Amino acid sequence: MIAIILDGYTDEPAGLGVPPYIDVYPRYIAGAIWSVYHSAKVVYFTVDKARQNLEKFLRLASKSDLLIVIAGVIVPGKYLGGTPITFEEIVRWPRELEKTLKILVGPAARFGFGVEGGKIAFPPKIFEDIYDLIVRGDPEIVIYDLLKEKLSLERINPYKLRESYELTSKFAVRGARIVLQHPNHGHNLIAEIETYRGCPRWLAGGCSFCIEPRHGKVIFRDEEEIAREIGELYRLGLRSFRLGRQSDFLTYKAVGTNEEEFPKPNPKAIEKLYRMIRYVAPSLETLHIDNVNPGTIAKHPEEAERTLKVLIKYHTPGDVAAFGLETADPHVARLNNLGTMPEEVLTAIEIVNNIGKERGWNGLPEILPGVNFVLGLIGETKNTYRKNIAFLKEILERQLLVRRVNIRQVLPLPATRMWSVGTKIIERNYRYFKYFKNWVREKFDSYMLPRIAPKYSVLRRLYVEGTSNSYMLARQVGSYPLLTYVTEKVSRSRVDVLVVKHKARSVIAVPFPIDFNRSSFKSLKYVVSEKKALEIIARRPITSGEIVNILTKDKLKFFRVRPPQDLKCWKKDSV
Ligand code: SF4
Repeated sequence: MIAIILDGYTDEPAGLGVPPYIDVYPRYIAGAIWSVYHSAKVVYFTVDKARQNLEKFLRLASKSDLLIVIAGVIVPGKYLGGTPITFEEIVRWPRELEKTLKILVGPAARFGFGVEGGKIAFPPKIFEDIYDLIVRGDPEIVIYDLLKEKLSLERINPYKLRESYELTSKFAVRGARIVLQHPNHGHNLIAEIETYRGCPRWLAGGCSFCIEPRHGKVIFRDEEEIAREIGELYRLGLRSFRLGRQSDFLTYKAVGTNEEEFPKPNPKAIEKLYRMIRYVAPSLETLHIDNVNPGTIAKHPEEAERTLKVLIKYHTPGDVAAFGLETADPHVARLNNLGTMPEEVLTAIEIVNNIGKERGWNGLPEILPGVNFVLGLIGETKNTYRKNIAFLKEILERQLLVRRVNIRQVLPLPATRMWSVGTKIIERNYRYFKYFKNWVREKFDSYMLPRIAPKYSVLRRLYVEGTSNSYMLARQVGSYPLLTYVTEKVSRSRVDVLVVKHKARSVIAVPFPIDFNRSSFKSLKYVVSEKKALEIIARRPITSGEIVNILTKDKLKFFRVRPPQDLKCWKKDSV
C-alpha cells in the first residue's frame, strides 16, 4: 500500500493547518492507514512542497494506490507560512492521475471550496467528477473503513462520523510520525491538538451561523488520550502545541455539560490535563489554547478565574483566548441566538486582563483575549456597525488589552439558520463592513499594538520565516503570533529582538542583544540618533565602555526604561 497525503492546508474556526501549524487531518489519516496496513508507505507532501517539484509529486502519486487531498480554507486570507491549494490545482492535479484512487477530505469536501471571504464559490458536488470519493464525514473513520473494505467504495459510508474518540485517539498516536515529513519539522512546527467535539450550547440550538451544535452531544477526549498523543509528538521532536480544536477550552470536561447551555468550568480536569502534558513534554516551548466562549467566563466568573490561573501555571506566555463576540449589537446577538451579550463580553475581557496581562519570559502578556466579529448576521443594520465601533472604543477607554480583532464575513453553511439567509445581508452592508474593517486596522490596531508589545521591549524566540525587501520576517510560535520585521539578516534561524517601531499589525525590531560592532546603520539608527549611529560606525571596533558613554549621553529612552536584567544580556565581549 502506497498512499500520498497532499496537505492543501485548512483553516477553520476551530483548527488551523497552514504552516507552521499541522492540523489533525494528516496525522489522524496516516494513523488510520498504518492501523490497517502496518507497513504502508505514507508519503506526506505540503502543497508548497508539491509545487516546488510538481513533476516528482505527480510521478509518485501516479504510482500510488491512494491520493488523499486535504483542503478547505473557510476564511481565505494571506498566510506567511504557506499558500493554500488553489481551485485550479485541486482540480487539475488529480486529473493527471489515471489509476490512483483519489479522495478529497477536509472543509472543501464537507462545505465546498471558497476563494474569497464569506462565499462558498464551489460546492463539494463540483469535485465529484474529479475525485473518486468526497469525504463528508470524519476522514480518518471513512478512510479506515475504506481500507478495511479493500478500497471498495460501494461498501462504505462517506458521511460517517466518529461516535467516540476510541479509534481516533489510537490513530492520533499511530499517525504522529507523519510530522517527521513536514518541512517545518525541527524548526517551528506546531501541532493543533483536539480536546473535544461539539458545542455545549447545542442544547439551545447554538449560533445561527455555526455548524458545531449539529454534532449534538459534546464528546470529550480523555486527558490520558490527549497526553499520549502529545507525548508521542514530543518524542518525535515537536516542542510546540496548541489546544485549539474545541469550541471553548474553558468548558473542557465542564460540570453540567450536555445538561446546561453554559456548564461550569472544571479547573480540576484542566489542571489534570496540563499536568499530564507537562509530564510527557517537559521541555516544550509553546503550549497555547485557542477558542474560549466569553459567556462561560461572564456566567461563571469564579470558576473561570480559577481555571485561568491553572492555565497560567502550565502554559507558555503569549497565549490568546479568542472570544466569539460576533456582534456588539444586542438585538443582532438575540436574533442569532449568540447566548452572550456584548456587556458580558466586556466583563470577560476584564477578567482575562486582570489575570493574564503580566508579561512572561518571551516578552508578551501571559494570556490576552482576542475578539472575533462575524458580519452579515440576521438583523444587522448600519447601526450595528456604530455599536461595533463603540464597543471597541469602550475597550480603549477602559484601558483593556486585546491581542487581536478578527473580522470576517459570515459564511452561510448548510444545516445552519444562515444557510437560508445567504450572503444578502453582508452584500447590502458591504460598504459599512469595509469602513469598519479600515477603522479597526487604522485606529484600533495602531493604538492597541504598542500597548501589547511596547517600544524597546524584548521579544524572545522568534523563528525566521522569510524575507521582505531588506527585512527578515520572523514570528514566535503560537496562537496569533506577532509578525516582526527584523532589520538585520541573521545567520541563525531563531532570534531575540528589541521592538523599535510599530506598523499597523506588525512591528519592526532589531536583533537583541545589539552587536554595536556589526549592526548595520539601519539597525543602529532605530536605537540611537543618526548622528550617533554614524559615530559608532566610525569608531569601530568599539568597546563596551565607549558604548555606555555614547548611550548615556544620548539619554536614550529605552536605555532608561529597560529593566536591569535586560541590560545584563548585552554581549560585552561582542562590543
Ligand atoms: S458558541 Fe456559537 S459559535 Fe461558538 S461553537 Fe457554540 S454555536 Fe458555535
